Amino acid sequence: MRKYWCVIQSGYALYGVGKTKLSAVHDANEWLEEKTSVQEAGGGNPRINGSLCLLPCSEAVYDYIQNGGDSTSGWQENRGFVDIDKEKIICPKCGSDRCISDGSTIRKGGEIPAARCKDCGYRGPAGKFSS
Ligand SMILES: [Zn+2]
Repeated sequence: MRKYWCVIQSGYALYGVGKTKLSAVHDANEWLEEKTSVQEAGGGNPRINGSLCLLPCSEAVYDYIQNGGDSTSGWQENRGFVDIDKEKIICPKCGSDRCISDGSTIRKGGEIPAARCKDCGYRGPAGKFSS
């Protein structure tokens, strides 16, 4: 499995993603006001809640963020690995978790966020992708 990397502020938000550690940190620094050194988590490093850390993440998280996903929800950290929050993004047609945010769609009452399944191609209101 190919590895992707992300920078998160533990418990709060995801700041950057990349295909390498360096590009994840670089991506995060575009969002942060000050250049920050990011410590790779694990290896016995103490983790302070609220501090930035570099963690491996799944391709789904990388796609989600690159496609304009919410940096504060839709993903979760689990024992040092960041993955899509499967409770939240599941395709209503085929049950796949390989779903991404995909712009917005017009429904009665206005514009709402949309999501798309990478497996079956179903696209619809993001709310439908909640389990
Ligand atoms: Zn699907």
